[in-house]
Formats: sequence, C-alpha cells, structure tokens
Amino acid sequence: MPEKLQTRCVITGGGPAGMMAGYLFARAHVPVVVLEKHADFFRDFRGDTIHPSTLELMYELGFLDEFLNQPHQEVRELRAVIDGHTVPLADFTKLPTRCKFIAFMPQWDFLNFLSTRAKEFPSFQLLMQHEVIDLTFDEQRVTGVRVKTPTGEVEIRADLIIGADGRHSIVQARAGLKRQEFGAPIDVLWMRVSKQQNDPKQSFGFFQQGKLLVLLDRGDYWQCGFVIPKGGFDEIKTRGLGQFQYDIVSFAGFLRNRVAELDDWSKIKLLTVQINRLRDWCRDRLLCIGDSAHAMSPAGGVGINLAIQDAVATANLLARKLRSGAVSVEDLRKVQARREWPTRLIQTMQVFIHRNLVTGQTSHRKNSLPIVFRLLKWFPVLRQIPARFIGIGPRPERFHSPSAE
Ligand SMILES: Cc1cc2nc3c(=O)[nH]c(=O)nc-3n(C[C@H](O)[C@H](O)[C@H](O)COP(=O)(O)OP(=O)(O)OC[C@H]3O[C@@H](n4cnc5c(N)ncnc54)[C@H](O)[C@@H]3O)c2cc1C
Repeated sequence: MPEKLQTRCVITGGGPAGMMAGYLFARAHVPVVVLEKHADFFRDFRGDTIHPSTLELMYELGFLDEFLNQPHQEVRELRAVIDGHTVPLADFTKLPTRCKFIAFMPQWDFLNFLSTRAKEFPSFQLLMQHEVIDLTFDEQRVTGVRVKTPTGEVEIRADLIIGADGRHSIVQARAGLKRQEFGAPIDVLWMRVSKQQNDPKQSFGFFQQGKLLVLLDRGDYWQCGFVIPKGGFDEIKTRGLGQFQYDIVSFAGFLRNRVAELDDWSKIKLLTVQINRLRDWCRDRLLCIGDSAHAMSPAGGVGINLAIQDAVATANLLARKLRSGAVSVEDLRKVQARREWPTRLIQTMQVFIHRNLVTGQTSHRKNSLPIVFRLLKWFPVLRQIPARFIGIGPRPERFHSPSAE
C-alpha cells in the first residue's frame, strides 16, 4: 500500500506557474505541497526571460533588489538581425513599470530564488523527485495524486489539485480535459556553444529567409535555439553535422571558430513546439494553469510571464477561500474566465508570428525586410507596442491574495 498524505492544495510541477502559485498560497497560510519530478531546476531547456511585469510583482513582494543582485542581463531594447539588417523590435524604456527592461536570468536561478523564499513559510513544502503518475478519484471527484518517489509510491490527497506540469501535463490528460490544438509549424533544436570575450554583449535573434536562430547569453556559453520546420530534424540529420554547423555559422558568423563543438547529434536536443488550449481548465477540485492549460510556443518569449500571471490570478481568486476549506468548481471557473482572454490573444499572435515571420509561409523578396520590421525600423514609437505586449502582456495581474501576517 502506498504511503498516504493529506494537504489542502497540491501543485504538480515546479516551473514558473507552480512555484509562483506555491509561494503565494504559502504566503496566504494555505498548506501547499509542490511536486517536481526532477531532482533540481538545472535543466537547459528553459527560457530565461524575466519580464518587467514579473519584476513588478517581485517589487510588490518586497524582494526586487535582492532578486536583481543575482547575475543577470538587462535588455532595454530587443534587436534582431533580419536577412543581414539589424532591426530594433521592442523598446522597453517607456513601459509604465519600475524595471524598464527584460532581465535575462537562467530560469533555475529564478526558481531557486522563489523556492528559497517560499520555504520561509511553514505551510510550504517542495518535494523534488516526486513525479505525479496518476490522479485518484472518489467516483467523479478528483481526490488527489499518485506520486512516484525515489523511495516508492505515495498518495497525496488534497482539497485542490493544481496541474502546473507544463505542455505534456499528466494532470490535464488524466483529468480528461479536452484540448484544442492550433498547430505549430516549427520545432526548436536546442544546443550550447561556448562564449568568447569578443562576442556580442547580449542575447540575439537572427532571422534569415524565414529561418531563425536565437542565442541566449548564459555567462560562459550561448544557449542556441534553432527554429526548424516541424518534423524536419531527420532531414537535417541526413544532410549531416557539417552542413548543420555551416547553417549555424551562416546566421552568426562569430561562432565559426567553435561551431565544431557540436560534433555529435546527442549535443543537439529536439524540443517540440505546440500551441493548444483546454476548453475547460478545471473540474471539481482540479485546475490547470500555465502551459498545462495552454501550451505556448517560444514565439515572442511570453509563455513564462503568462504562466506567472495565471499563478497570481489563481492565488488572488482562491487563496482566501482555500484557507478554510475546499473551493467550488464555480470558483475555479473564475480563474479561467480571468485568464482565458489574455491567453487567446497571445496565442493568436504566436500563430501569426509562426505563419508570417518564422516559417516563411508568407514569402518576402530575398534581402527585403517584411513590412512589419520596416515599420518598426522607421517609426521608433511603434517599438513600444511589442514592448508592452512582451514586457507586460494583456491584463497584467497585481497581488490581491492575503499575505501571511
Ligand atoms: C524551446 C522553447 C523555448 C521557450 N523559451 C521561452 C522564453 O525564452 N521565454 C518565455 O517566456 N517562454 C518561453 N517558452 C515557453 C515557456 O517555456 C512556457 O510557456 C513556460 O515554461 C510555462 O511555464 P509552466 O510553469 O506552465 O510550465 P513548465 O515551465 O513546463 O514547468 C512544468 C514543470 O512541471 C514539471 N513536471 C512535469 N510533469 C510532471 C509530473 N508528472 N510530476 C511532477 N512534475 C512534473 C516539469 O519538470 C517542470 O518543472 C519556450 C518554450 C519552448 C518550447
């Protein structure tokens, strides 16, 4: 028989959505257990963007300065190199936020920071190497989760089960929640190349004839994301590593003297991209948030912010009631009602970006900039629109959930 535990709220997944929700529930004195299947947060397939709206939340929580003491880069203007033209895409300096920049910080530092703060609350528990493998039911009502741990199986019962387990969510699947797929015509190849002193100083995006290479500065190496047509990895492999290295250099010439570090396909990981959304984000005693409710593409670099905003709305709407017992399905639906509209808007924008900017489905003449980029180049004021969309997003959340005092 598996060991049995009981708590008020169990959160599956220690990503941005799960850790922020866990922190906020604990801050509101709600007993909460966050389950993370990995042993640590050190995985390289994580985006590194901490958005101005998230930094605003850190300020409201009172730990912005401490957070920004950690190594990070502040990017005030996003630029891309498009078919050889450098184009400013977004200008964050006019945003109505305290931090007028995107902080690029390895996501494991962000998650470690949040978990350290959360552990200061006695009602918070983070269990690493705890993988949810199933839900438990009492007839139609979800009652808890079954968890695989290094020492055997555990069953954790809770008044509320939150799925924050990302785009391959088991919570969503086992709860039988129906998903709408919007199709993503791209996948991403994810790999590391070392950094050298004379390299450009900030993270970069290189577009070329509908293809895209993104370089994230991670201190002593570049995390490279190479966007490919969905299902195209086998063809790339058939063409061989030499050709692949050549492709990378054709985007970012300064990598020429070290692209040979990519000397084995095992160093190049395929990350599949999806865009989908649940029709219902909840059922009795269960709610999905973040990518578990709506898988986001990397396009625009907004999924992390959206996941965090979901977590804030969840705590705002549920924490007070959850302190004293279970919440109703009507309460859970309020979270979807609040967060579905911004999600729809961003996903529509991501589909547009896939179709028009990164897959080359809408062709443009070689060496001529698509009109969107030309407008951004000519009219600096227009750069405030993507800055707002990326940096803050539609319907930003503020904290209303009670604190632990
Ligand atoms: C290649 C790629 C690059 C991206 N880059 C960016 C970017 O730069 N900026 C940006 O804003 N967005 C980016 N995104 C989107 C972003 O990663 C997601 O939108 C965001 O991570 C969602 O956060 P989340 O907390 O909902 O889920 P996740 O970040 O996926 O976290 C889910 C967590 O749950 C854990 N988990 C999963 N299953 C279980 C289980 N059964 N039991 C226990 N734990 C489990 C996982 O280990 C993980 O820690 C990118 C997406 C892709 C595919």
